[in-house]
Amino acid sequence: MKNPRRFPRLHLTLIIAIAIIVVFSLPDDIDDVSSPKGSPKIVDIPLNLGKPSTPTTQLAPATPDAPAAPKTVETVEPDPKAQSAEAPKPAETQAADVTPVKVIEKPLSIEPQDPTTAPVTAPPVTWEPEYNITTHEHKVQSGDTLTSIFKRYGIPQKTLFNLLDYKGTKPLTRIKTGEEVILQITEDGRFVGLRYAIDPTDTLVVSAEDDKFKIDHEIHTIEYKKRFGQATIDSSLFLAGEKAGLSHALIMELANMFGWDIDFALDIREGDTFRVLYHEQWVNGRKIKDGPILVAEFINQGDTFQAIRYTDSDGNSNYYTPEGLSMRKAFLRAPLNFTRISSHFNLKRRHPVLHTIRAHRGTDYAAPTGTPVWASGDGKVKFAGWNGGYGKVVVIQHGQKYSTKYAHLSRIKSGIRPGKKIRQGQTIGYVGTTGRSTGPHLHYEFLVNGVHRNSRTIKLPQAEPIAKKEKDAYTRHSKKMMQDLETATRLAAHSNYE
Ligand SMILES: [Zn+2]
Repeated sequence: MKNPRRFPRLHLTLIIAIAIIVVFSLPDDIDDVSSPKGSPKIVDIPLNLGKPSTPTTQLAPATPDAPAAPKTVETVEPDPKAQSAEAPKPAETQAADVTPVKVIEKPLSIEPQDPTTAPVTAPPVTWEPEYNITTHEHKVQSGDTLTSIFKRYGIPQKTLFNLLDYKGTKPLTRIKTGEEVILQITEDGRFVGLRYAIDPTDTLVVSAEDDKFKIDHEIHTIEYKKRFGQATIDSSLFLAGEKAGLSHALIMELANMFGWDIDFALDIREGDTFRVLYHEQWVNGRKIKDGPILVAEFINQGDTFQAIRYTDSDGNSNYYTPEGLSMRKAFLRAPLNFTRISSHFNLKRRHPVLHTIRAHRGTDYAAPTGTPVWASGDGKVKFAGWNGGYGKVVVIQHGQKYSTKYAHLSRIKSGIRPGKKIRQGQTIGYVGTTGRSTGPHLHYEFLVNGVHRNSRTIKLPQAEPIAKKEKDAYTRHSKKMMQDLETATRLAAHSNYE
């Protein structure tokens, strides 16, 4: 193709990916943007959009039960592993304004539920030094059950049975591979405690003594922090995203948002730019994930696309243009998992066209064999099988007017046969080089009333507008988000020139 010509050499020196992560802040917080040049500016705005702020301290009778105090976490502190099993160290918390989440101070202590019995049941203070407690951070392997884990650490099965009789222990029976169960055991093999993160916001804490158990929860609220990133694409979308400090997952989210308008497999060019305002989710001073994207803009070959996330009164979240048209459309631009291409794909080393079918009337996507091929729109399978030069091919009918064809597949996904209903984005097969083809690629055809059309330039059916009853609320929201995006961009520019 001729793309290189679009970019005179002079531009190459100018097109340097701007990679700035700026934590976006409302204007009255501008003063806080004061970190040193070159380092990310951090201004966190706790938005408290998480779970309705459920009290984080639903348990732990507030009655002063000093008698139990000796058996605190400090018991296990000499073991460095034990310490890391507790709350993450403050150093990981990059911002001081992360609302400290309540950490139960004494996860291992047995606090009598009824304070009146405290004097009787509270163990003598001399209990502490007599036992060395070992903390085992057990990563759940495939095939592990709580039974096998307890067995492995020499805890009697009876203890487990007794424990599981307690209310609130059900989550322990649903542990999954890759999760962590933290066990605390005395040197003589007695089980004294357990911690298990049911999810990032809820940790089950069991304290045990003499086969009596106390079940607690540490509840952490998700904190949402607004972040801003922008970049100019130099060699690839993913590289540009990386330089802007955006995670792979976030770049995929960005590409998916615009996947109805932009062909991310073929249309991305050097000099394309994007900017995005998004949420980071933090729990207990640790980032657990990125997203969702709140508002984003992508400028592709001079065309500007903007999308704003909006949650309607029924609680459904979708992306719309500033004018209130759905980003979702009847057909995807690229009918394959472009992230498999884009992530390895360098714009400066574009593949040659691979088709060999004479009188070529489709679009070719060079992609590794096995790359999932997606139905570009909802429809019904019309044909699935071998067809001469096309090799293995799937044809989908979309209503009366449109049909799409996917050729040279290495494999047709099982269950894809004529008459089968298909959803947009559903995998129907995998890239290959069957039929007359010189290398792995997807040959894609788009037909309107049986006539071949260029899938890349054809005007597709109009997108749905936002529901009437949502229109006013959306317009206000949309304006606000576009303003926020501008403010963040200004702040980012400001921070660059200082
Ligand atoms: Zn072709």
